[in-house]
Amino acid sequence: MHYTEQIYRPPSEARSVLLEVTTGCSHNLCTFCNAAKGLKFRLSPMEHIIEDVKEIAAFKPDTKRIHLLSHDAFALSYERLMEIAAVIHEHLPCADELSSMGSILNVMDKTDDQLKELRKAGYEYIYIGTESGLDEVLEKTRKGFTVKDSEEQLKRLENAGIRYCAMYVLGLAGKGNGLRNAIATAELFNKLHPAMIGGNSLTVFRDAPIYKEVLSGEFEEATELECAQELRLFLEHLESPCYVAASHASVGTPVKGRIPRDKEKMLSQLDGYIENFDERRYRLRRELMRSM
Ligand code: SF4
Repeated sequence: MHYTEQIYRPPSEARSVLLEVTTGCSHNLCTFCNAAKGLKFRLSPMEHIIEDVKEIAAFKPDTKRIHLLSHDAFALSYERLMEIAAVIHEHLPCADELSSMGSILNVMDKTDDQLKELRKAGYEYIYIGTESGLDEVLEKTRKGFTVKDSEEQLKRLENAGIRYCAMYVLGLAGKGNGLRNAIATAELFNKLHPAMIGGNSLTVFRDAPIYKEVLSGEFEEATELECAQELRLFLEHLESPCYVAASHASVGTPVKGRIPRDKEKMLSQLDGYIENFDERRYRLRRELMRSM
């Protein structure tokens, strides 16, 4: 298999076969992200993709689900995505579930008809970095889209029948702004129907641009307690039925469950964390993190 960089794959794709179709990130500007820094965005050569699909067919001919790598593989053009789906279907007739990571910008550059055709071709699940429901946060972190864009583009995915996991980064609004961010982000998702909301918590890595902002005082990190309170308020306001997995390694106070069924259980779990909060212990844990 042609794997050319460190692999990032969502935990929920642990059982999927991973097929590299791009390297790096087509945007690569988000100030809090170090995942693709130093990597040039590149399309995998079609001959590599064909070789890899044939290899998968030789070892796992009944493969059903394939996760396309890398950081925003949905950035590929409609034509390229369809070409890749055709190769997959030719060699792996059972592979009818294709997923990838993507951004709001990647949805914008496809028409409604193209999104529907992609769904028919098997693209059924996208992991999207919505990150925040506050425009000031999206602008400051250079996401390249607005909250209104998130709402419009995710509705377009829904209309095309493509399910998605919307990512939310706790702490991204900085010290003192978490509660406002929690309510705004819950309000955004309440207008939508995400299959899942994935919660991360901001960790400032030295090779991410935001590190310089922290050093200069331009950005002040939220405390660990603020992140826990932000998550609690977010869940309290979240009404859209979906699965929430705020359980990434970066979240010191992990919870997961289904809204509305498990909401009370998650809230009381968070109350338990908050009641006995040890800021130093959570902070140390974050400082030991080496990558996203
Ligand atoms: S957060 Fe996502 S879109 Fe932004 S630079 Fe990182 S990988 Fe690219």
